[in-house]
Order: sequence, then C-alpha cells, then structure tokens
Amino acid sequence: MHAKKLVCFKCGKEFPANSRIFWCSKCGYSLDVEYHYSEIKNLVEREEFLRAPVKHWKYWMFYPVQDLQKVVSMHEGGTALIKSRHFKDYWFKFEGVNPTGSFKDRGSTIEITKAIENCEKEVLCASTGNMGASIAAYSARAGIKASIFVPEFASSEKIRQIKAYGASVTKVKGTYDHALELTKKIFEKKGTYLTGDYYYRAEGQKSVGFEIIDQLNWESPENIVCPVGNGTLLFAVFKACKEFAKVGLLKSMPRIYGVQATGCNPIKKAKVLPVKNPKTEASAIDCGNPVYGLEVLKAIKESKGQIAAVSDKEMAKSMKSLASEGIFAELSGAASLAGALKLGLKGKTACIVSGHGLKESKSYY
Ligand SMILES: [Zn+2]
Repeated sequence: MHAKKLVCFKCGKEFPANSRIFWCSKCGYSLDVEYHYSEIKNLVEREEFLRAPVKHWKYWMFYPVQDLQKVVSMHEGGTALIKSRHFKDYWFKFEGVNPTGSFKDRGSTIEITKAIENCEKEVLCASTGNMGASIAAYSARAGIKASIFVPEFASSEKIRQIKAYGASVTKVKGTYDHALELTKKIFEKKGTYLTGDYYYRAEGQKSVGFEIIDQLNWESPENIVCPVGNGTLLFAVFKACKEFAKVGLLKSMPRIYGVQATGCNPIKKAKVLPVKNPKTEASAIDCGNPVYGLEVLKAIKESKGQIAAVSDKEMAKSMKSLASEGIFAELSGAASLAGALKLGLKGKTACIVSGHGLKESKSYY
C-alpha cells in the first residue's frame, strides 16, 4: 500500500493510514488520504502502465488498499468516454453502465474491500438510493450484511434494487441528512462499520478522473463537469488530476465545474449554506448539507472552475438531448450537460453522466 497517512481537511490533525475512523476525532470534519507519491511515480512511468486497458483497478497504486488479493470487484469502471454528436468538443463519461448503474460502484469497491480487510461482518449506509444500491451489491458479493437508510423520497426502483441484493432498507422520515444522522447514531452506539461519503469512497471515485485523462491520451480536457450532491465526486475528480500531475502524468489541470439543482444548491460562490428543505426531482443530488462542501469550493477556486445551478426543467431537456445520442441518463446524471450548456463552456469538455435512466420511474419525455 502506498497510502502514507490520513489528514483532516479542516484542522490538519493526522492519523495512521489504517485507522478505523470515519472523520476527524478532534474537529469532526472529513479526512483525506495522503500517499508516497515518489513510490507511485516509479510504478506509473512504465510503458506497460500507460498502455494497459482503461479500468478502475489499473490505478490501484492510488488507492489505500493493503491486500490486492482481497479486492471485492465486479469490473466497475472502464466506462466509455463518448464523443457528442450534437455538441462540439463535448464528451460524455457514461457512468450508467457500471454494475449497479451508477458511478458509486467505484467507491463501493474500495469501501467494501476495506471492510473485508478489517474483517467486518456488517456495514451501514445512508443514501439517496444509488450509493445504497451499490453498497448492497458489493456487500452481497463479499458475503456481508448491509443496512441501508434512505430518505422517503428515494425512488421505488432504487429501493427495489437495494432489496434485491438482500440488504435491509429503512425509510427515514425527512431528508438525506436525517438518514445520515441516524447511521452516525447507530455507529456511535454499536460501532457498526460506516460506508458512504467518507474518505475511502472519495479515493475510489478518483478513477472517473483518471480514466478521462487516460482516454484522452494522457491529456487533460479543458473542462470537467460534475453533478454535485455531497460533492464527493467533484472533489475526487479534482484530486485525481492533482495526483496525476504530481507523478508527472498530467501537464495542465482542467477547470472543474460543479452543477447543483436550483432547488438544492447549498454551495454558493464563496461558502456552503445548508438548505433545510431541498426541492428537486433530481434525487441523486438532493443533499442539503454537502459532506464535501468545503473541498468543492477549494477545487473550484484552485482549478478556476465555477459552480452552477440548473432547474429540473433544464436537466430534463439535457436528458432528452443525451437520449437522442443513445445515452439514457437519470435526471441528476443530465445535470452536467445542462450546467455545461448554461455556462456556455467551450473547448474540450467532459461531462460526467453519473447514473442510468432505468433507475427512475418518472417520465420526463
Ligand atoms: Zn480536524
């Protein structure tokens, strides 16, 4: 393993890389994983690395996994980067083709692998639906129990998917934040292993960024556009680009753009302002108090990107545009294209289409 240590984003407190903790014990904020980049540099400079097929575990040296023999994988990632027919210089990273239909599988493969390394028998997860389905599937694969907590608005398709994998589902009154609080309470009481928007997930989701650069022949696009719920994906993509730059695989950084729903847009120009009663049909990005809010702001500022908000109507329009090119996205997944168009982005632009349209029953056509 090339992970060096865990560091709190806010207060800088450090922890050993293999600690069984989920947030900073001093200030309660999210943690980040730091690596021995000089070791990683030696591994990725080889021609066989550069030429290997694009897939999630190609970039194993950038993940905090100890034993590659214990990896719980279902061939997540390696998704196509599809060139748009309608929009000049736009590319779509279609994440709907992952094993459970969303980009969440990239984080789940790391989280469940870590749970297995730790000999955990059960995991908890608060989710708007996609992450819960993904954790349920990877837990089933690993033969451990998963308990998923969803807000009442989670789509019946996603709940059906979670149950199909044999996980238990608890509907929590209120929003995603209420479901999250409940899992934290259970963790405090029983110590059950937490999965969700914690650092292991972010580490796994970096592969979306790694793959985009790899697929563009080790060149960065000018812009990468991500839907923003908790902000983990945007932070992860930014970190991926920075890490590739650190080990000499990337010369110029892309600008990173985040897109929220106008009915749930807690990340504003300079700060994070939690939204108590979010109102959007885009359930996968319906997170009123984003876990990675501060990191999103930092990534956007440092990469000279921007944060945009789009209406459900604008997302539905982009959903139709994507479908007219053969890509069936869920409403939240179309937020990236809607945001790119709203911001009028020019130059090579990669829009991350985060989830499959089959995950929602409501028709926007
Ligand atoms: Zn701290």
